[in-house]
Amino acid sequence: MPARVISGTELAAALRAEVAARVAVLPFRPGLAVVLVGDDPASAVYVRNKDRAAQAAGLATETIRLPGTASAEQVLDTVRRLNADPEVDGILVQLPLPPHIEARAVIEAVDPAKDVDGFHPLNAGRLQDGIAALTPCTPRGVMKLLAAAQVPLAGARALVLGRSTIVGKPTAALLLAADATVTVAHSRTRDLAEECRRADVLVAAVGRAELVRGDWIKPGAAVIDVGINRLPDGRLVGDVAFAECVEVADVITKVPGGVGPMTIACLLENTVIAAVARRGGS
Ligand code: NDP
Repeated sequence: MPARVISGTELAAALRAEVAARVAVLPFRPGLAVVLVGDDPASAVYVRNKDRAAQAAGLATETIRLPGTASAEQVLDTVRRLNADPEVDGILVQLPLPPHIEARAVIEAVDPAKDVDGFHPLNAGRLQDGIAALTPCTPRGVMKLLAAAQVPLAGARALVLGRSTIVGKPTAALLLAADATVTVAHSRTRDLAEECRRADVLVAAVGRAELVRGDWIKPGAAVIDVGINRLPDGRLVGDVAFAECVEVADVITKVPGGVGPMTIACLLENTVIAAVARRGGS
């Protein structure tokens, strides 16, 4: 029997509606500021989508656009101004930054209480301690998809493909906090297919089109595809060969329409969490 396809589009719509309902009864309007440096077209699309979703949920939004030639000091000054602005509850610096700006320094300049991306080392450390309130949006979305599909995590073997700071590592930390037995694979992993075959839960965050094949999947596994890859013919596909894997897995997500919409919905949720923590309310 083909797998159950968990729709991130539907789940994200429900989460956005939940956020909007929560915002509607707050005595203030949570504010999200997005900093976009340069004119990378993909980043511009992401920022526009985030801005639209935030406004639709009733958040106050501000997008600060700096030219690709902006100095590191200009970007840091912008972050400091937003840190000091009482109306701003969440700050997101759209990555990647131009190569002459050290992303780490900018991420570390964001007030951890306004770090709605969850990338600041303090929040990353809290995540390892299992006490983080602001967790990175994409991994948070992955966990919500697994929860919606009622995938049992305690004691399950989970494999995270990819060890980036923004997706792989925080996803592994969240799965560990949920009592899964977690393995993290990467480009130096010896036998990726064999690692995958052992996994009850497989999260692919690699950025290689359809790397994960049907015969890599343990029958009955839950497969969450974070990857976004554009093929030469223009089609978007994930890191998982969907048509093959859907025949073997029990639960699976699609690209597009899986993790992507959850990332934005979780950003809105994080902004409200940050706002309530800073200003009070429930
Ligand atoms: P990175 O490039 O930062 O990390 C990729 C990871 O995959 C690295 O750990 C790398 O290993 C590993 N890797 C690369 N090639 C292989 C391979 N052949 N076999 C095994 N492991 C491999 O990417 P991100 O984590 O930022 O993103 C991953 C994917 O998720 C991308 O497609 C990205 O577009 C997508 N994404 C989707 C989001 C969403 O909202 N849906 C949000 C963010 C990202 P090593 O460390 O050894 O180099």
